[in-house]
Amino acid sequence: MARIIAIANQKGGVGKTTTSINLAASLAASKQRVLLVDLDPQGNATMGCGIDKNEVEHSVYDVLVDELALTEAVLHSESAEMDVLASNADVTAAEVELLNVAGKERRLYSALESCADRYDYVVIDCPPSLNMLTLNGLVAADGVIIPMQCEYYALEGMSALLQTIEQIRESVNPRLEIEGIVRTMYDPRMSLTTDVSAQLIEYFGKVVYRTVIPRNVRLAEAPSYGMPAVKYDRLSKGAVAYMAMARELLRRAKKKSEAEAVTV
Ligand code: ADP
Ligand code: MG
Repeated sequence: MARIIAIANQKGGVGKTTTSINLAASLAASKQRVLLVDLDPQGNATMGCGIDKNEVEHSVYDVLVDELALTEAVLHSESAEMDVLASNADVTAAEVELLNVAGKERRLYSALESCADRYDYVVIDCPPSLNMLTLNGLVAADGVIIPMQCEYYALEGMSALLQTIEQIRESVNPRLEIEGIVRTMYDPRMSLTTDVSAQLIEYFGKVVYRTVIPRNVRLAEAPSYGMPAVKYDRLSKGAVAYMAMARELLRRAKKKSEAEAVTV
């Protein structure tokens, strides 16, 4: 059964898309079968995997609004060695079109359910708001990863996200847990970064990944070549960090399943 992970934070520019692409590609490079779902109408995750968002026949729009089978809509990214459900500007309309539909927040969940045995991991790149698209991502997910930049305003807005997660858990999706918090664009030379980082660990404890993602120009360059950084320059600091994050995630998952096996 696929483990479904939403990458969410309603702030823009915190590294959601960079994390989605590179974590997903790192999991794929670790022999996992991976699907990346791009839920952001900006289509940056799609483009970053070498798929032209303006040339795709089907996008996540068709899956959400017209209930097109996932297998019909999914594309394969050669550069990332994983499947991709693409997004583009059309997806903006999905928000409005879903408004009066029954079960509108469960559309992605239902679509993924039918393909759960095809993948080990599904990574969902959410848009920078808590809208119907993000809601679909969180309702479908088993876990959410929150990328955070360790800066002064980083914690602001966190409570809205945590509250949303709690509400979803209490209503439509009791499986939803905080899979992890990842510190992005990390610069240990800045005392503000280390201060905020310490606060984060104090508040969230072990949920914070030990792996930090440094600020690294290769991570910003790679999308213009339609490649994840872990393929574009696999020895760059950014790529090495995302590979380490994927290993940490896999290690945690293994520990958890072993613990569950003991309790059963
Ligand atoms: P979001 O999806 O949350 O809006 P992005 O992943 O698109 O954020 O990142 C915002 C910008 O910062 C992009 O231009 C991206 O290339 C750049 N970026 C993200 N993470 C890093 C990093 N660790 N080092 C350098 N640049 C980064
Ligand atoms: Mg993004």
